[in-house]
Amino acid sequence: MEKILEVKNLKVSYHTYAGEVQSVRGVSFTAREGETLAIVGESGCGKSVTAKTIMGLIATPPGEIKAESSILFEGKDILKQSEKEWQAYRGAKCSMIFQDALASLNPTMTIGKQILENITNHFKMPHRDAEKKAVEMLELVGIPDAVRAMRKYPHELSGGMRQRVMIAIALSGDPKLLIADEPTTALDVTIQAQIMDLMQDIQKKFGTTIILITHDLGVVADVADRIVVMYAGRIMEKGSCDEIFYGHRHPYTWALLNAAPSLDLKKKQKLMSIEGMPPDLIDPPKGCPFAARCPYCMNACVECFPPEYTLEEGHKVSCWLYHPDSGYQDIEFGREAEI
Ligand code: SF4
Repeated sequence: MEKILEVKNLKVSYHTYAGEVQSVRGVSFTAREGETLAIVGESGCGKSVTAKTIMGLIATPPGEIKAESSILFEGKDILKQSEKEWQAYRGAKCSMIFQDALASLNPTMTIGKQILENITNHFKMPHRDAEKKAVEMLELVGIPDAVRAMRKYPHELSGGMRQRVMIAIALSGDPKLLIADEPTTALDVTIQAQIMDLMQDIQKKFGTTIILITHDLGVVADVADRIVVMYAGRIMEKGSCDEIFYGHRHPYTWALLNAAPSLDLKKKQKLMSIEGMPPDLIDPPKGCPFAARCPYCMNACVECFPPEYTLEEGHKVSCWLYHPDSGYQDIEFGREAEI
């Protein structure tokens, strides 16, 4: 599969009264044509800021995208685009589904008008054809009686239907890349499953690349081809879905997976929690940001951020345990860390 997106050394900060918040601190990953790439991590790890940067939605100031960052979309550095080029890019090449559909849709406009607005922004076509395309998009995402639904306002639809409308709007410009930022957070589990199925169907039909941003590992297990695990603005581990779920090698990935509820949990077994708090990104630690919470922490970890070690092709981990001289390359994770 061809690379459609290459994020290289992305660094994004926010300048606040309290100081410079280093939200994203040197993130690099790729997304290939037609795949689903999941970016997972707890709140505040920088995953949504990364997504917004790819969409060109970082307001500068107070945001700042550092000069050494680059984001190549089909080989072109989009961070160097003019505002006119950004407008042509957003919606037509890359679209985004936001987490709260009710807050994202305009409450004063009908669903139909909101889809039509996106279609007419990107395609020059007679109004009647644009309306036909809008109805087709609503039918595609499973809105019943789409012609009538065009006249409805967002508050007249259920949460699941509103999220379907958001997907219809995002797809109406025929984008190659769809970024879904926590698309199922506000929905109950059955509707979550329907929305994820819908996104997979759309991907099969149009070959769209999907970047799925979530903190919910249960959501990514069935749909992701590859996973990027983020913590405190950095990438801790990246690999295929199987490598992350069944062959994870980073203590944070291990802790994150163990903190997720599972049906395999024995009756009296306690759900594991990751003790401590993520670091303050105004003054992030110079070493590994997970050091204060990591049961395997060594002296080197607090001194210097670990380089990225390649374990297998595509499976990379940033952790000093995999330094050739650490002696812990074959470590088996468990609660009783003996280092
Ligand atoms: Fe733990 Fe050190 Fe690895 Fe960080 S680098 S995850 S502190 S072992």
